[in-house]
Amino acid sequence: MGIKSLISMSLTDWDGKVSSVIFLGGCNFRCPYCHNWKLAVNPAALPDLDKEAVLQKISESSKWIDGVVLTGGEPTCFEGLFELAEEIKSIGLGVKLDTNGSNPDVIKRMIRREMVDFISMDFKNSFDKYPETTGTSVDVDDIKKSIEHIRHFGSYEFRTTVVPGLVEQSDLEKICNYLRDANTYIIQRYHPENVIYKEFSEISPQSDEEMEELVALCSQHLKTKWRG
Ligand code: SF4
Repeated sequence: MGIKSLISMSLTDWDGKVSSVIFLGGCNFRCPYCHNWKLAVNPAALPDLDKEAVLQKISESSKWIDGVVLTGGEPTCFEGLFELAEEIKSIGLGVKLDTNGSNPDVIKRMIRREMVDFISMDFKNSFDKYPETTGTSVDVDDIKKSIEHIRHFGSYEFRTTVVPGLVEQSDLEKICNYLRDANTYIIQRYHPENVIYKEFSEISPQSDEEMEELVALCSQHLKTKWRG
């Protein structure tokens, strides 16, 4: 699968940085609340962008941006990921990887080869609820391996979209206990727009007050912020 979209400049996809954002097609998960499901589920229906043209645009923006966010879909499923990351680094820009954590070997290689500067990993739910949250028979040992690689790397955030009815307070407590001592944990407000399944489009997002209460709950275990 290819490069499907480029945002030349974003202030919101890498905390504290100005970035370009590359969207890569394809994903091995089927989260029922996915917002990028056209990109994730049926990427062949979307045209590929020419990689050289994308890199040229990024190069032209390099005076005004700090780095490039590789997102999807699931970037670790993209065959040319290493090459793409190396080409971005050769322009002199940083690389942030957004990942669902399902490919620990890819993450490990990116870290070892210094192709990545920051990793944002989705911690989808408590481990026993991973299959229903991701719509797949995911191997949670792979998720655990990715978490360990990323923690060891040190420049990261873990994040959970708090899907009402799917990610409960008890799940957040289990996640926080597992991540105890992690640098940064982000809980994200649920947004029902453009999700893949109709029943998930009828779920209301949390209020600011509800998000603050969840932050207070998680902050008993580790440093937590909310987003969204
Ligand atoms: S991992 Fe992300 S891109 Fe893939 S299906 Fe889940 S929400 Fe969508």
